[in-house]
Amino acid sequence: MAVRAPGHTDGGGTEPSKIDMETLRIAGRRYSDPDIISLCRQSGELIDPRWKIVSMARSLVERARDFPGWPNDALARLKIIASLNGIKIAPMPADLARSESRDAVLYPTESGWRVLYNPDRPSVRIVFTIAHEIVHTFFPNSRSGARFRSLTSPGSRESNELELLCHLGASELVMPFDEFQRQANGRFSLASVASLASYFGASLEATVYRLATAHPGIAVAGLLRYRYTKEEERRLAQTTTMSLFTEAIGAPPQPAERKYRRQSVHLSPASPENECTIRFNKSFDPSSIVYTARKGGVRTGSESLPNASSAKGRIEAILCPYQGQDADPEFGDVFFFWERTADHVDFDFSGVSETPGRSDS
Ligand SMILES: [Zn+2]
Repeated sequence: MAVRAPGHTDGGGTEPSKIDMETLRIAGRRYSDPDIISLCRQSGELIDPRWKIVSMARSLVERARDFPGWPNDALARLKIIASLNGIKIAPMPADLARSESRDAVLYPTESGWRVLYNPDRPSVRIVFTIAHEIVHTFFPNSRSGARFRSLTSPGSRESNELELLCHLGASELVMPFDEFQRQANGRFSLASVASLASYFGASLEATVYRLATAHPGIAVAGLLRYRYTKEEERRLAQTTTMSLFTEAIGAPPQPAERKYRRQSVHLSPASPENECTIRFNKSFDPSSIVYTARKGGVRTGSESLPNASSAKGRIEAILCPYQGQDADPEFGDVFFFWERTADHVDFDFSGVSETPGRSDS
């Protein structure tokens, strides 16, 4: 979140425990952020915010493409897209660029929204962050929404709801669905990611996830980290102090094991959420090819995923080109991409991808 607006840090004297929290459940997901809930209700009937955001992003891109001389450059494209939504984009003045830690800042002015970006940052970050800030303007920017976000604990599901939706819309603005499909030309593979990323001016990470979210069939992509479960980590941290009391407590806990576990997951529009999603912490079997990614290159195999579906498909894994701070030094963070292969498709998914409520993931 990089919105600066008056009243954003208003505590209103309300205790966190006393905030009225309404939760909506739509298409298998929960939403509590008041600004998201307002968006869902804007038209009178309840609308899936994921579908809504993707539709708004797509229609902006469609209008922008009607401009004569629609450019190939990602930043030039975003400036046109932003102008259609009454947003001005400009580089930060040098003194602000030196002191501002964020890649871009969105703020309201009397004549509309303005995004200032830090021209010293890598261009793929600038592009995605500007797109993310544009999507922030799709939401009502209310005091109760701002208060809600100031009261949620950082890293919680609730505090991330809005940010994830802005990422979803940003990916649509930077890598439009139909154009991504045309460029991929039927070859959805980690081997194509570098050329696709450079075509769209997007990061490798965003492009890996787009392989799934713009896939015409059943596909899943995500990031895996070699680690304990969060619960195991907590237990291990307590071990030293607890060891004296273990006998009194009873049975010793299960031995912890590091495995490749799901960090993030992204589904194609045609993938049913309940069958295809991989729960956070869920581990990949030690026989999976994801454990061989550290040998280098794109590893390929035929496997099912650790989700509710038993479908087999083609899986690819590659070591992330940059490693997170908490990555294991020996088994680094891994991107995976999985698609259900033709042999296993037993009904026709064509046309499903445009269904409202199953929009993107
Ligand atoms: Zn944000």
